[in-house]
Amino acid sequence: MNAGAAERLAERLGEWKADALLISAQANIRYLTGFTGSNGLLAVAPSGMTLFTDPRYAIQAAKQAPCAVRVVRGPLAKAAAGLVRRKRWRRVGFEAARIFFTDYTALRDALPRGVTLMPLAPVVEPLRMVKTEEEIARIRRSVMTNSLALDAALPAIRPGVTELDIAAELEYQQRRHGAEKAAFETIVAAGPRSALPHAEPGTQPVIANHLLLIDMGACQEGYASDMTRVFAIGQPAARLRDMHKAVHEAQWAATEAVRPGVTAGYIDGQARRVMKAHGLDRVFVHSTGHGLGLEIHEAPRLGAKDQTKLEAGMVVTIEPGAYVEGLGGVRIEDTVLVTATGHETLTPTSKEFISL
Ligand code: ZN
Ligand code: ZN
Repeated sequence: MNAGAAERLAERLGEWKADALLISAQANIRYLTGFTGSNGLLAVAPSGMTLFTDPRYAIQAAKQAPCAVRVVRGPLAKAAAGLVRRKRWRRVGFEAARIFFTDYTALRDALPRGVTLMPLAPVVEPLRMVKTEEEIARIRRSVMTNSLALDAALPAIRPGVTELDIAAELEYQQRRHGAEKAAFETIVAAGPRSALPHAEPGTQPVIANHLLLIDMGACQEGYASDMTRVFAIGQPAARLRDMHKAVHEAQWAATEAVRPGVTAGYIDGQARRVMKAHGLDRVFVHSTGHGLGLEIHEAPRLGAKDQTKLEAGMVVTIEPGAYVEGLGGVRIEDTVLVTATGHETLTPTSKEFISL
């Protein structure tokens, strides 16, 4: 929970000419109240916050959330409409990108005439970009767990072992080292399948003299980590070695550029410049990175068009990649903290092209 964030939000209500906000994204509710349940709707007003949830979470919500809690049976949106009526709010903002259409219509249909529902651009996400000391400490622990889990799983990796076996071992080790769960579906891609940036692990076995790509993240104390490494299984082809070298160089250049004041787009440009010098810009098919925290993908997006200026306390991934169909793919990804003077790479795992 982030003391002060709800107040800062309530202070901005005037800007939107809103009497109250309804927060429907669970990660935003967690950020504002500390409530970790999967079903909640939060009303934020200058007078305070009210959290609506269902009976499964009655005990938990009372313990976690430092605000009024209403436990309701049936649609939360309907109960929230009741609060709007009692408080005589006239203009209520909601998270346009983070509400189900069915919840929106339930809310709209239950509201008295004359109440305006105002779709808002992300309101909590910008606050979440800059992490508190406590959040940074949690991300550090999540990153450490993730790297320890990879180290612990490495001995199980050899030709013939399937991608699914490796993914299972990685996720088992994440939990053994303190994670609640994986932050996202672990990617393990053997051989030419590494050319699929988001390969789903399957029954493909690890192939000798080829690549193995692993993209994994832990979720610990609610906070995500994210790391990609590519290993050599025996002696991969020279072209794959060159690709690894180029991506490693791009990853280094982009990371070195991270400091307060530069734009997210500039960081992306640094990675792309190196990839272009190696003739790999056209096979670098995604952005250079993303913020992370309570969710695995948060603002800012380290893409060409994102003009967000980096600030100390932001945590982003740096993850350029190159993907050649039929040959293979390489991505190298670290979790990086923006500091007052530059950056700190939180991920301790070696980025060398290690042969397993
Ligand atoms: Zn990743
Ligand atoms: Zn990532």
